[in-house]
Amino acid sequence: MYGIIATWRMAKEGIEAADKMLKEGDTSGNAIETAIKAVEDFPYYKSVGYGGLPNEEQVVELDAGYMDGDTMAVGAIGAIKDFANPVSIARKLSEEKVNNVLVGVGAEKYAREKGFEEKEMLTDRAKAFYRKRKKEMDQELKPYDGHDTVGMVCLDKSGTVTAATSTSGLFMKRSGRVGDSPVVGSGFYADSEVGGATATGLGEDLMKGCISYEIVRLMGEGLSPQDACEKAVNDLDRKLKEKHGGAGDLSVVAMDCKGNFGCATNIGGFSFSVAAEGLEPIVYLVTREEDGHCTFKEADKEWLEEYMRVRMAPVEE
Ligand code: ASP
Repeated sequence: MYGIIATWRMAKEGIEAADKMLKEGDTSGNAIETAIKAVEDFPYYKSVGYGGLPNEEQVVELDAGYMDGDTMAVGAIGAIKDFANPVSIARKLSEEKVNNVLVGVGAEKYAREKGFEEKEMLTDRAKAFYRKRKKEMDQELKPYDGHDTVGMVCLDKSGTVTAATSTSGLFMKRSGRVGDSPVVGSGFYADSEVGGATATGLGEDLMKGCISYEIVRLMGEGLSPQDACEKAVNDLDRKLKEKHGGAGDLSVVAMDCKGNFGCATNIGGFSFSVAAEGLEPIVYLVTREEDGHCTFKEADKEWLEEYMRVRMAPVEE
């Protein structure tokens, strides 16, 4: 069995490439890195890699994480500037004995030393979004409350599970702010004996539940990926509302070591992409019922076309 699952529609093209690699027997690590790089490189996705939206100082700071579920190796970078493919740097860091998590200038120094591609990541389009947003916010600069990090879990034919993320974080975030995406156990987690999980949403809240680790732990106790995702999201959502005055967006996907998958969200409008042996790459739209149960159905042609039209529409300032 093999498979790959990812947050959001934007992962579809990457998933297609990964699916081919997995079919031919390539490794989970290579497939997930290729799939995430495809999202990082696409300029119209404004929450990941090139074209990602900047922080309040109009600087694009990127976070990424990578975990190998065979060895428990983890690598992550936070608040890195001007590198094309943060996920590749995170994966490289996972091979180091120590110093696996680097941020800011230290991460940049490491990436330069290792010869990773340097690139100005702030696009004219992202600058236009920044100007527009600034105009809309006449008093206070508040971070954007939508979310769109790409996170993936991948299983290869030999049974290796990996998980990885990449994001520009919250639009209009503070300089130096790091969310859940590069934090192991929160943004991503992989254990080849069980499976993997990854999250998107308000990092500050996802971290409070170590949500990706929690999902993998629940799967390890025997819950299906769907039940584990729902339990982790609903428990955290409830606790945040009770103790913290409200819950931010929490959306997750998971795949177990047999290729079964699941998802959960506490918002409307979550989508995910998945491919597996016997399942061609597909985009699902998730619906949350009143009781917290989540169901999903295939996105139709109209939805998919509208998605791309909106992503590529000119920015009206
Ligand atoms: N989880 C990300 C963060 O807080 C945001 C997102 O999912 O888009 O940085």
